[in-house]
Amino acid sequence: MIAYDKLPKVYEPGDVESKWYKYWMEKGYFHAEADPSRECYSITIPPPNVTGSLHIGHALCYTIQDVLGRWKRMQGYNTLIVPGTDHAGIATQNVVEKQLAKEGLSRHNLGREKFLERVWEWKREYGGTILNQFKRMGYSFDWERERFTMDQDYADAVLEEFIRWFNEGLIYRGVRVINWCPRCQTAISDIEVEYQEMAGHLWHITYPLEDGSGSITVATTRPETMLGDTAIAVNPEDDRYMGIVGKNAMLPIMNRPIPIIADVHVDPDFGTGAVKVTPAHDPNDFEIGERHKLPSIVVIGQDGTMTEEAGRFSGMDRYAARDAVVEELRAQGLLDHEEEYTHSVGTCARCGSVIEPLLSAQWFVRMKELAQPAIDAVRDGRVKFVPERYTGLYLDWMENIRDWCISRQLWWGHRIPVWKCEGCGKYMAGRNAPSACKKCGGGAFEQEEDVLDTWFSSGLWPFAVLGWPKKTPELEYFYPTSVLTTARDIIYLWVARMIMTSMHFLDEIPFHDVYIYATVLNEEGRRMSKSLGTGIDPLDIVDKYGADTLRFALIQQAGKGQDIRFSEGRVESVRNFGNKIWNMSRFVLLNLDTESGNLPERPSADKLSVHDKWILSRLQKTIDAVNTGLAGYDMDNAARALYEFLWSEYADWYIEIVKPRLQGEDKAAAQWAVWHVLETSLRLLHPIMPFITEQIWQSIPHQGESIMIAPFPKFDESLVDEDAESHMNAVMDTVRAVRNLRAEIGVAPGKRTPGTVVPNGAAARAAIEESAECVKSLAKLSQLTLAAEAPSGGQYMSAHIPAADIYLPLSGLIDVDKEAARVKTELESVKKDLARSEDKLKNPQFTEKAPAAVVEKERRILAELTDKAARLEERLSVLQGK
Ligand SMILES: [Zn+2]
Ligand SMILES: [Zn+2]
Repeated sequence: MIAYDKLPKVYEPGDVESKWYKYWMEKGYFHAEADPSRECYSITIPPPNVTGSLHIGHALCYTIQDVLGRWKRMQGYNTLIVPGTDHAGIATQNVVEKQLAKEGLSRHNLGREKFLERVWEWKREYGGTILNQFKRMGYSFDWERERFTMDQDYADAVLEEFIRWFNEGLIYRGVRVINWCPRCQTAISDIEVEYQEMAGHLWHITYPLEDGSGSITVATTRPETMLGDTAIAVNPEDDRYMGIVGKNAMLPIMNRPIPIIADVHVDPDFGTGAVKVTPAHDPNDFEIGERHKLPSIVVIGQDGTMTEEAGRFSGMDRYAARDAVVEELRAQGLLDHEEEYTHSVGTCARCGSVIEPLLSAQWFVRMKELAQPAIDAVRDGRVKFVPERYTGLYLDWMENIRDWCISRQLWWGHRIPVWKCEGCGKYMAGRNAPSACKKCGGGAFEQEEDVLDTWFSSGLWPFAVLGWPKKTPELEYFYPTSVLTTARDIIYLWVARMIMTSMHFLDEIPFHDVYIYATVLNEEGRRMSKSLGTGIDPLDIVDKYGADTLRFALIQQAGKGQDIRFSEGRVESVRNFGNKIWNMSRFVLLNLDTESGNLPERPSADKLSVHDKWILSRLQKTIDAVNTGLAGYDMDNAARALYEFLWSEYADWYIEIVKPRLQGEDKAAAQWAVWHVLETSLRLLHPIMPFITEQIWQSIPHQGESIMIAPFPKFDESLVDEDAESHMNAVMDTVRAVRNLRAEIGVAPGKRTPGTVVPNGAAARAAIEESAECVKSLAKLSQLTLAAEAPSGGQYMSAHIPAADIYLPLSGLIDVDKEAARVKTELESVKKDLARSEDKLKNPQFTEKAPAAVVEKERRILAELTDKAARLEERLSVLQGK
C-alpha cells in the first residue's frame, strides 16, 4: 500500500526543491554511462567562467539545455549532460590580482609559481559558485563528470592539440598588430575589447612634399602615432592625388621621407582622402604595410610609454606625447586645423584602459586550411544552426577568416609548450624540454612564457570532456553531441573553433544542432546590466518564487525571435500558474480514493462522458504541441500549450464540469479521467517545472519511483475526438456568451436568470441539449429553454455565437433605472479622464520631453479608457432601450 503525501494548502518551493534535488542526486538519475544498446542524447554545456555567477542570460541558456535533457531522458534516451567551468585566463587572473592589490602586492612580487598557487587557492574556494547556483535551478547535469579546463586530463588534451598543430606547421610565430592592454600587459581578444564613445579631437596635419612642390594633409585622432608613419596612402581612383602618387612626403618632426602610395582600401570620402600609414599601431595600416612592403616602426611600448624610436618623445606617456606632438606641429605651422570629434575607442573589458593596437610577436594558428572542413560541415547540413539565419553569418565569417592569435601574456592559463633553443633560437614544441636541439644539437632551452588564449582550450571542450585524446567508451558513444546551446556573440570565437578542431582531430562534427538562444532584455527592451541597475538577479527570483517559476517564465518566451523582455511581473503570473496547478491537484487528490493504493482503473469507453472525451482529446493535442515545440526548439510554443491547457481547459472548464459527477454515485470514470489528465500533464510539464511536478506526482497515484524517469507522454491520434471538441466548443461559447451578457448589465454574481438558446443546426442542438445541466450550472441559468426561434414579448439582451443565438430577459434581473443611473455616472467620470489623457498626449511638451516609456504608458491608458467608455455607452444604450 502506498502512503501518499498530503498536499499542504500552500505550495512552498524552498524545501520542496532542495528535497527533490537531493533525492534525484542520491538516486543517480543525472549520471549516464556509455551503453551501446541504447540510443543516447548528449550535451556538453558551455562552460561558464569559473569567476562567474549566475545571471539571467545563463539561467535561460542552461534551463533550455536542462529542459531538453529531461525531455529526452523521459523519452528513454540515455541522456548525458556534462557540466564544467572554464579557467577564463584574463578574468580570473584579474580577480586574484585585485585581491593581491588589497594586500599591497602584485603578481610580480609573488613570482609566477607563487601567484599560480594563489589562483588555485582562489579557485578551490570560490570556483564552485556558479555550479552550486546551477543546482538550485534544478539542472540534471552529471556532476560525477564535472570538468574544468585546467584539470590535468584537460590540460593534456590542450597540449596534444597544440603540439599536433605545431608539428603540422599550422602554428607559427608571427608579427601582427594585436589589441594590447597596457594595464593588463597582455594581448586581448576582440571580444574582450569594449568600444566606448569618447570625446576627442581630429587633428589635420600637413605633410610637405619632399620636392617642395606642395603638401598633403591627413587627419588623425592619434597624432602621437605619426612618429611611426612609414607612408601616406590615397585611393588609386582619387583624382585629387593623381599627380603625387609615387612622390615622397616629409614626415614632420621626424624629418623622414615617406612614400605616397595608392591602395584601394583607402576611403576617398573620409577626411581629405589621404591617410597616414602606421603599420605598427593600426591593424588596417598593418595590412597596407604588408601589401606595400612598408617597414613597421614601433613608437609606443607595451607599457604605454613612447619607445626610443619616438626620438625626443621617448619615455613619455602616450597621452603626454600626444599633447607634445600637437604642440610641436602647431609651433612648426604644420597643424592645419583641429576639430572636436567623438569617436569609438576600444577599451579593455577587464580594467577599462584604452587599448593600444600594437605590433608584437605572437603565436598564430593558420586558419584557412582548418576552416574548409568546418565550412563544408555547415554548408551540407551536418551541423545545423537554429534559428537558420545564423548559418549565413557563420559562413561569411569563415570564408573571410584571418589567422588566430593564440598567445596571451598572462600567467594563469595553459603555458605554451614551446621551447626555444638558447644556442640557435629554434622553436620546438613538446610536453617537456627536448633533449637536444634538432638544428644545432644544443641542450639548453627556454620555455615560452606566454599562455594560450582561453578559447584555444575551450575549442576542444565537447570532445576533451569525453576523454580525448584517449579513445574512451564515452567518446565513442556520446560523440558527436546532440546540441550546443549558446549565445550569438560567440559563434565565431567558440562555435566555429569547436567545429574546426573537431573536424581536424576527429574528422567528425562536434554537435548536430547549434541553438542560438535569445537575448534577455528588461521590460523596456534594454540590456540587463548590474552596473546600470537594470538587471534581475535570477537567484533573488528563485528565493522568492522558486526555480520552477523562473524556468517556466524564461521558457515561455524562448522562441526563435531575437529578444526576450523579462520582468518580475511575468514571474508573478507564472507563480500564479504554479499555484493554480497546486490547488487543482489538491482538489483532484481529495476526490480520489487513495486508500487502496491502486491506480484508478481505466473505464470502458461507454462510461466516458463527452466532456471526458473532450479533455482527453485536448490532452492529446497538448502532448503533440509540447513534443513538436521541444523538437523544433520552439520551446515557447510548448510552454504556452501547457499553460493554456492546464489553466484554461483543464482547471477552468473540465474540473468545473466534472465536479458534480465526482460527488455522485457513479464516479469511477470521472475519477479516472480527472486523475489521468493530471498525471499525464505533470509528466508533460516536468522538463520545464521539475520540482512542483515531482512533489504533486509523488502525492497522487502514480507508477515508478520518480517522475523524472517516468515515460514522456506520446501523442495518440486515436484519442483525438473532433466531435467531442465541437460539442464542447458549443457549450463553452454558450456559457461565455451568457457570462458576457450578465457582465454587460452588471447582474449580481449570485443571481440566477432564465435563458433561451436558439441552436444553429442539429449538431449544436444535440450538444446543448446533452450538456444542458452543465451549461445551466456554469452560466448560472435558473432555466434553459431550447427554442427554434427568438422569444417574443418583453425586453431581451441577445448574443450571437457560431453555435446559437442566446437571449436573456432584462426584467427582474436588475433594477434597470438604478443601474442606468450608475453607469451614467461612471461614464461621465471615465470621459473626464479620457479628455485629460487626450490633452496630455496632444501636448508636444509632454510627448517630446517625457521618457519614451512614460509616453507609451499614457497611450496605453488612453486606449484603455477609450475602450471602457465604449463599453459603458453600449451598456447604457441597452439599459435605456428597455
Ligand atoms: Zn586591461
Ligand atoms: Zn639549436
